[in-house]
Formats: sequence, C-alpha cells, structure tokens
Amino acid sequence: MTAAPQPQAHCVVCGTAVAPGTAKCPSCGLSRPAARGAGVLGRQGFWFLGVTLLVVYIVVLLIVAAAR
Ligand SMILES: [Zn+2]
Repeated sequence: MTAAPQPQAHCVVCGTAVAPGTAKCPSCGLSRPAARGAGVLGRQGFWFLGVTLLVVYIVVLLIVAAAR
C-alpha cells in the first residue's frame, strides 16, 4: 500500500504553493520547519501532549490523595 498523497502545502507568508518536501519557500525564501517532520504538531506531538497532560493529571491526583 502506498502512502496517502500529502495535501499541497502553502507558504504561510506569501501563500505560494510549496512541495511538501521543500525546506524553503521558492518565492520568499522562508524556511519551513514542517518540511522536516510530519507537521508542526503531528500525530507524535499530539500523543506526546496527551500523555503529558495525563501524567500531570495523575501526579496532581496522587498529591491530593496523599494530602488527605
Ligand atoms: Zn513564501
């Protein structure tokens, strides 16, 4: 199975269509950090955020339980 085609990315500054793998905008030269990974907040970042919030929640729960 082949990977799903990525949607055409656009430069956030000038709006020029940029290929997903391109590191810099061909029009204005803006470096695109999204080209290095899956996205600014990709699936990995989303799960990392969720796990971090869960850990913080559990730690707070333990502190509250220990304080009683
Ligand atoms: Zn641009």
